[in-house]
Amino acid sequence: MFLKGKIALVTGSTSGIGLACARALAAEGAAVMLNGFGDAGEIEAIQQELEDASGALARYNGADLTRPDQIEKLIGETIDELGGLDILINNAGMQHVAPIDEFPPEKWDLIIALNLSAAFHAIRLALPGMKAKGWGRIISTASAHSLVASPNKAPYVAAKHGIAGLTKAVALEVAQAGVTVNCISPGYVWTNLVESQVPDTMKARNLTREQVMNDVLLAAQPTKQFVTVDQVASLALFLCRDDASAITGANLSMDGGWTAQ
Ligand code: NAD
Repeated sequence: MFLKGKIALVTGSTSGIGLACARALAAEGAAVMLNGFGDAGEIEAIQQELEDASGALARYNGADLTRPDQIEKLIGETIDELGGLDILINNAGMQHVAPIDEFPPEKWDLIIALNLSAAFHAIRLALPGMKAKGWGRIISTASAHSLVASPNKAPYVAAKHGIAGLTKAVALEVAQAGVTVNCISPGYVWTNLVESQVPDTMKARNLTREQVMNDVLLAAQPTKQFVTVDQVASLALFLCRDDASAITGANLSMDGGWTAQ
């Protein structure tokens, strides 16, 4: 259990990639602050599962990360209740699919707030403690869309390219402070987020469900396999190891070959 004594915050960890990351960190002994929306009973069960696995605390804070004031409370509560913050995984994200000239401006603002600005706020608030300790790990879930674009996803693509840039800039600022800053860029991972964009894509492109799955989602993924949440979590866990201390400012693709094309 190489993360015994470490404290992690995983945003958007009530489902999908974030939940898999929370489980992977707890399995190595980390105390975990969960965040995201969901059913109170299910979240309590996850907390219990994590505590049983880690032998450390697991807490939950339902902060809405589109709201900077709530991010500030989330970071403060993590430090107060768990005793610090060593590993920050910026993972919460949302998607909306529409052509740019029909994109609702309020959706643009929400996607930029959640998928980009929330990482800025969490990083700026988490860093002082990491620098003081001389150890920290900041990992953001970017996307293949941090490197390439798809139509009808302008704010998501803009935010994820922003995460890649933010990662590089912060990595340079803290390069000598014992803190590494990286992002992971998965291709299509089968989660609620992907499932929920199928109907919008069907509408936007006038396709059947099967056509969206095969001709849109997996069209760009040469392996023709969805990435799994556990594969992403394994890479995040590796980045927490001392063996990964030379990896910083990196944007690590895990996309079945998508961005090799
Ligand atoms: P998901 O829908 O399963 O999880 C999203 C999480 O974010 C949930 O816990 C949800 O409650 C939380 N969340 C949503 N809005 C929030 C808000 N305002 N405040 C706080 N939490 C909020 O989706 P996922 O696929 O696991 O997505 C996780 C991350 O991975 C996202 O940043 C997404 O862009 C990225 N990603 C996903 C894929 C994919 O194919 N699924 C590919 C590349 C990148």
